[in-house]
Amino acid sequence: MRIIITGGAGFIGSAFIRKFINKSDIQILNIDKLTYAGNLTAISEAEKQPNYTFLKADISDINLMKDTVGDFAPDILINFAAESHVDRSITNPDSFIRTNIFGTFSLLEACRDYVANSAKKDFLFYHISTDEVFGDLQPLDAPFTENNIYDPSSPYSASKAASDHLVRAWARTYEIDYIISNCSNNFGPFQFPEKLIPKTIIKVLQGEEIPIYGNGMQIRDWLYVDDHVEAIYSILTSGKKNENFNIGGSNEYTNISVVEKICSIIQNIHYPLLDKNFNANSLITFIQDRPGHDTRYAINSEKLKEHIGWSPSKPFDQRLEETVHWYVENRTWWTSLIS
Ligand code: NAD
Repeated sequence: MRIIITGGAGFIGSAFIRKFINKSDIQILNIDKLTYAGNLTAISEAEKQPNYTFLKADISDINLMKDTVGDFAPDILINFAAESHVDRSITNPDSFIRTNIFGTFSLLEACRDYVANSAKKDFLFYHISTDEVFGDLQPLDAPFTENNIYDPSSPYSASKAASDHLVRAWARTYEIDYIISNCSNNFGPFQFPEKLIPKTIIKVLQGEEIPIYGNGMQIRDWLYVDDHVEAIYSILTSGKKNENFNIGGSNEYTNISVVEKICSIIQNIHYPLLDKNFNANSLITFIQDRPGHDTRYAINSEKLKEHIGWSPSKPFDQRLEETVHWYVENRTWWTSLIS
């Protein structure tokens, strides 16, 4: 199986590469621009493998994408590449429009050329999307299914929604087979320190204030990154096409409760730099809420469970504890990023 992965130096793409690079029947070409969020350390083992190639490039470079896709002749392209941080999309939406919308268009055009000019009939464009395209839920609403209407709230989620529409339009108009999976908030090793879980872990380890937007009662549905990439692999090897799948961990927690869990885990580890009497919860600081902050996301993954047979491998608390330990043990990785 020949797979082009875009954004494979990012958090989720690199987890996919680490997990599947050892499969003997897989050849991977990773295309990544190496923005601030891209990190080759996360895939250093893959770089030694003969079935792995890396190309530093921007997915918006349409001519380069056409040449690259045609030359590599993939069976599947998985588009992980994106600008992914909501806060950054509020202060600087331009790069979100360019990468998430124009970049996806550019890849679709490259794949259209490739399918038209080769004998390849069973090519699949696998697009990674987010539950944020559905907008937000009130506390008693049912979790998002694949049939919810798109109602994005932020420049980030609007750009992802637009890219999903492009993928479906290229499938309908040009017969490019696709899968779109819309996942909930991921967490795990190698996540860039701007996101809630790594940011909180690092703030506690450094004894610094933990900023919490508003009252911290926003609810997110947490998905461990390795469970996510297992789900992607199961879908792309299932033979399904031209469908959407929701991928969620069924772990709904308020932001404040996730932060308190992290404080308590680190307190119990007795991380040596912290005073024994140190109270991690005292670092929690409420700050002005983010504009347009979504109240709640929750994903119904029943379609995935029923048709693909996937479910999360371990409980949230156990995965959170493993993640905290990873950040404690990999201090050099994140100190280089925050300095
Ligand atoms: P990330 O920000 O960690 O990584 C993105 C990667 O894409 C980086 O390696 C970056 O260098 C690369 N990239 C950015 N712009 C590029 C461009 N123009 N050309 C080539 N490469 C470029 O993101 P992530 O958390 O790994 O997310 C991957 C995908 O999953 C994204 O599409 C995101 O929208 C989606 N998603 C993420 C989450 C989450 O919780 N992390 C949740 C739902 C959906």
